[in-house]
Amino acid sequence: MNSEQVLATEQQLLSPGISEESQLAGVVFAKGQGSYLFDLEGRQYLDFASGIFTQNLGHNHPEVVAQVKQQLDELWNVHDASTPARARACQALSRHLPEPLTRVAFFTTGAEAVEAAIRAVFSSAPPEKQRLAALRYGFHGKTQGARSLVHWDIGYSNQSGNSVLGYAANCYRCPLERSYPSCDMQCAKLVNKHISSKGNIAALFFEPVQGAGGVIVPPPEYWSMIAEVCRENGILLVADEVISAGGRTGPFLACQHYGIEPDLVMGAKGLSSGFPFSVLAGREELMAQGAFAGAGSASSTYGGNPMSCTAAAATLEVLENEQVLAGIEEKSLRLENGLRTLAAEHSAIGDVRGLGLLWAIEFVSCRKQKTPDADAARAFYRQCLQAGVRTCLGGNIVRIGPPLNISDADIDAALVIFDACLAKAEA
Ligand code: PMP
Repeated sequence: MNSEQVLATEQQLLSPGISEESQLAGVVFAKGQGSYLFDLEGRQYLDFASGIFTQNLGHNHPEVVAQVKQQLDELWNVHDASTPARARACQALSRHLPEPLTRVAFFTTGAEAVEAAIRAVFSSAPPEKQRLAALRYGFHGKTQGARSLVHWDIGYSNQSGNSVLGYAANCYRCPLERSYPSCDMQCAKLVNKHISSKGNIAALFFEPVQGAGGVIVPPPEYWSMIAEVCRENGILLVADEVISAGGRTGPFLACQHYGIEPDLVMGAKGLSSGFPFSVLAGREELMAQGAFAGAGSASSTYGGNPMSCTAAAATLEVLENEQVLAGIEEKSLRLENGLRTLAAEHSAIGDVRGLGLLWAIEFVSCRKQKTPDADAARAFYRQCLQAGVRTCLGGNIVRIGPPLNISDADIDAALVIFDACLAKAEA
């Protein structure tokens, strides 16, 4: 099939519920190599969305390819059985997870790990604590339990009765109309007020840095303030690190950036170079009793399959051997400086924010009013794609997340293209 045939076939047969960016792109990707994607016609694109924050080592890292190819020749799947691949994935994760998180369970999608976390929470929750809480604009997946934690008008209603406790600290659009640091962290205090008043909350599910919500990076003290009140009230901390686990924001977990210790953590995307792999990691008492105590209670058809576990073990080995995490701070600064320079020069940019190698450009039509401008974001996204850089579009926000081993030259090349495309988008 050529590109036209692929696009026509998909338009006719595929559910129309695909992403706006996929509908806009009109590009058929055929190959990936390192930080680059190639379309069917052989044009190359710098992948500044890393798949969807999955390709932390870029596409087709040779060591991951070699290990996965060997596994392909050996064993694809056995249901919930001991395999060298599964043991290696356990070991690789335990080298990186903070000490209290001693147990892991494997699944295939982020949402599935979120569902597993919900099971783990309720199997230990006292009878009076039968509600979960989450923050507005968090995203946790599209399965029913995960959806019940999404308090955000993104096309489905939440009828679970779970609680929304307030906002993650969005300093650009502070819902309390304050400015940091003179705000004295009123947003965290408001969340804490709800936490201490409700009495029926078993766990708080949160993204340390909200991803789909637009890369919302709270100030340094935000999470420790909330964690303290959760502890005082016997509320479990469940960190959704589906995007951030594996070093996307710098440290292996984004929680480590904020100095907090969650009771349960979900990881996925960047851990396995794009293979369907997710993990729920947790403290012994949550993961070895209740919902997870019975034989087979943490299994699923594909959870922990040897192919995905090999991809995860290999990805984490490369992360260590090539000291990828050690290089993130410098790359982050390079990207940040470049984006801030662009923000100073282009009035379509209302805000630039991020952590590690997860960034967002927020587009506005009026800086003073901060009027969201989805058209400008869309135009920028399209211009970038045409000029050979792929980003990630959502409303008036374009997210930027290159592979963690991106070269300085490729960061600089993308920034030059962003500059030119901003000028075109503004025109
Ligand atoms: N949690 C977070 C923070 C996510 O960003 C996502 C997916 N973008 C999910 C959960 C759901 O993951 P999946 O699409 O693999 O089910």
